[in-house]
Amino acid sequence: MLRTETQKKMYIKKIISLALIFALTACQTLNIEKDIQKSKPKNLILFIGDGMGPAFVTAYRLYRDNPNTPAVETILFDEMLVGSLRTDPLGDLKLPSNQLGKFEHSSGAVTDSAASGTAYATGKKALNGYISLDENKKPLPTVLEKAKQVGMSTGLVVTSQLSHATPAVFASHQESRSNHTDIVNQYIDNRFQGMPYIDVLLGGGKEYFVREDRNVVEEFAALDYQILTNKNELESANKLQLLGLFADSGLKKMIDRDADTPSLSDMTRIALRTLSNNDKGFFLMVEGSQIDWAGHGNDIVGAMSEMADFDAAVLEAIKFAKIDGQTQIVVTADHSTGGLSIGSKVNGKSHYQWKSEVIRSFSKTPEKIVKSAIKSGDLLAEIKSASGLVLTEQEINQLKPQELSDSWKTTQRLMRIIDQRSYTGWTTTGHTGVDVNLYAYGSASGELVGHWDNTKLAEFMFKLIDNK
Ligand code: MG
Ligand code: ZN
Repeated sequence: MLRTETQKKMYIKKIISLALIFALTACQTLNIEKDIQKSKPKNLILFIGDGMGPAFVTAYRLYRDNPNTPAVETILFDEMLVGSLRTDPLGDLKLPSNQLGKFEHSSGAVTDSAASGTAYATGKKALNGYISLDENKKPLPTVLEKAKQVGMSTGLVVTSQLSHATPAVFASHQESRSNHTDIVNQYIDNRFQGMPYIDVLLGGGKEYFVREDRNVVEEFAALDYQILTNKNELESANKLQLLGLFADSGLKKMIDRDADTPSLSDMTRIALRTLSNNDKGFFLMVEGSQIDWAGHGNDIVGAMSEMADFDAAVLEAIKFAKIDGQTQIVVTADHSTGGLSIGSKVNGKSHYQWKSEVIRSFSKTPEKIVKSAIKSGDLLAEIKSASGLVLTEQEINQLKPQELSDSWKTTQRLMRIIDQRSYTGWTTTGHTGVDVNLYAYGSASGELVGHWDNTKLAEFMFKLIDNK
């Protein structure tokens, strides 16, 4: 009976929202007027572009540019910029010798997602690898836990495994980010008033939920969570608690996805529709998880694919916030990855160019192209059909299509050809210690203007939750 009422309410809400979204998009503009919301924010949405250093945003602007106009068009992020954050983790700690070498301990300059995420989730600096624990392994309270304790609904939406470091720091406490099964166990075992802390979990990582020792999906279902496995099920979700697992590990990159796999914006939209049924508001963290993975792989095509996925999800939240009028959105990154540069040295010569059209021409990631080629046996034809690129003789020699069976090596060779043609540069397959951009939308955004330590973000969020 109650459920039918809730469903009815949700459908009415949905219809009103759709009508308003149509009206908004008909205006053709999404001008970000930062002071449009006068009331105190009730809802809080944090977007984390994992690995999304400033160069990724600039590259994405150029990638999105309409080549038929003289100006480079601005992107959504440009309209929301308020400041920057430093990302350095806890460093130079004298750890006991049995701890040394277990994780990549930080010198204090370059963070991983666990340490940076812990700063965002708890307001305390952490060691690389630590999930919301201080250096003495004491659990640090998180903004998500606090939100739940004051009666808000909560959600985590990602394209990686749900047990990955970035979502994990909000709802678990572990000595190592690699403890995937322990992290998933804490998602269901840590409770507030008898229920898990997280109401909506959408992403990948089924392998860590459905295991020989424990079936955590069944356990969530027993608590009346609606279990979702594909885009159709996601679209028709109608319970107030959702667990959506759309891949065994991470989801495919946006340009490689099939029609059954939801996008980050699909998941964000359904999360918002579900969480907004609580009069006390909600906290939602949405992660563009694989900007970082593409950065680690030095894959510019994959990086732009994941930037597009992330950008569309932020747009979805802005549309929601414009209608709702009581939502604070913050967008940032946890660090930069790969040392991406726009312009690079090719054959000993520096180029003052970045040819985004080369990247734009690809409809699949190099990884997917090589996988298809292993099936078809014709790498050059697969490259041509996915991008229109016809390789020069020199490039074919560099690619060595006869060595196709070594798929990762072949993928890397193809990525280097794309880099050379587009003048894309990389300095590492790890992270870099540059500051990251900070973006915001909502009535409290003014408090974020400036340059801050990454712990500032948690202070800001705890304050919003406390003052509601
Ligand atoms: Mg992450
Ligand atoms: Zn990374």
